[in-house]
Amino acid sequence: MPDATPLRGKTAIVTGSNSGIGLGIARSFARAGASVVLNSYTDDESDHALARDMADETGSDVRYIQADLSDGDQARALVETAGVCDVLVNNAGIQHVAGIDEFPTAKWDAIIAINLSSAFHTTAAALPMMRRAGWGRVINIASAHGLTASPYKSAYVAAKHGVVGMTKVVALETAEEPITANAICPGYVMTPLIEKQIPETMEKYGLDRETAIKEVLLDRQPSKAFATTDQLGGTAIFLCSDHAAQITGTTISVDGGWTAL
Ligand code: NAD
Repeated sequence: MPDATPLRGKTAIVTGSNSGIGLGIARSFARAGASVVLNSYTDDESDHALARDMADETGSDVRYIQADLSDGDQARALVETAGVCDVLVNNAGIQHVAGIDEFPTAKWDAIIAINLSSAFHTTAAALPMMRRAGWGRVINIASAHGLTASPYKSAYVAAKHGVVGMTKVVALETAEEPITANAICPGYVMTPLIEKQIPETMEKYGLDRETAIKEVLLDRQPSKAFATTDQLGGTAIFLCSDHAAQITGTTISVDGGWTAL
């Protein structure tokens, strides 16, 4: 009988986890018995309610810690405030779509800060804790755009390629320790962000829901199906298992075949 709570006794910090993929991964960790730290830049009652509801549902300890990860000091403070970090999931991310010659500098700076630099700061703060504990997992949520490119996404593609590169460096610097660092590279995942684009796409192209999803949104995803936040949670849990102890410095694509094209 497999252990239903293999991560009991571990603490997982998941950045950008009041929505979408981060929330799904955090829930998977809480269900697996881990103590979980949720995070976003807001400090709303709904953020703290999310933590309470997840704790009630799973029986695990769940806290919400506000930190704006566009600021490196706040990124480090998130980890310091949590006080312990066995599993660090760098997930927070934003997007902006525009040609390079029109790309607003402020958007470039924000995407690099939130999608890439925050992972440097949280990892720097978390590694000493993992070393003290004698075990650790760094899991960076990159993207298919960490391995390939699309037009009009210069900052996002640069940041995600940067995350994949930094993941390899963390893996090499911890290679002889019981710590691993890997990047999960999702294709399109059904999150509230994507759900919102479906009616917009239907209207823009005059298509029904199914055609808008398959022919426009999932144009580059050969499976013609979205990955789910639950599947990403399961992938992250696998990376925490003993079976994955020698998997480090690599990427795991969850993209329905996108990067096989
Ligand atoms: P989302 O918008 O639902 O979630 C993004 C999270 O990041 C939210 O919790 C948000 O509050 C948080 N965040 C944004 N700015 C922040 C800041 N300054 N400080 C702290 N937190 C901040 O989007 P998502 O689709 O769940 O994306 C999550 C991650 O997965 C991102 O890194 C994204 O690039 C990546 N990703 C998403 C997809 C997809 O199809 N949805 C595909 C590949 C990769």
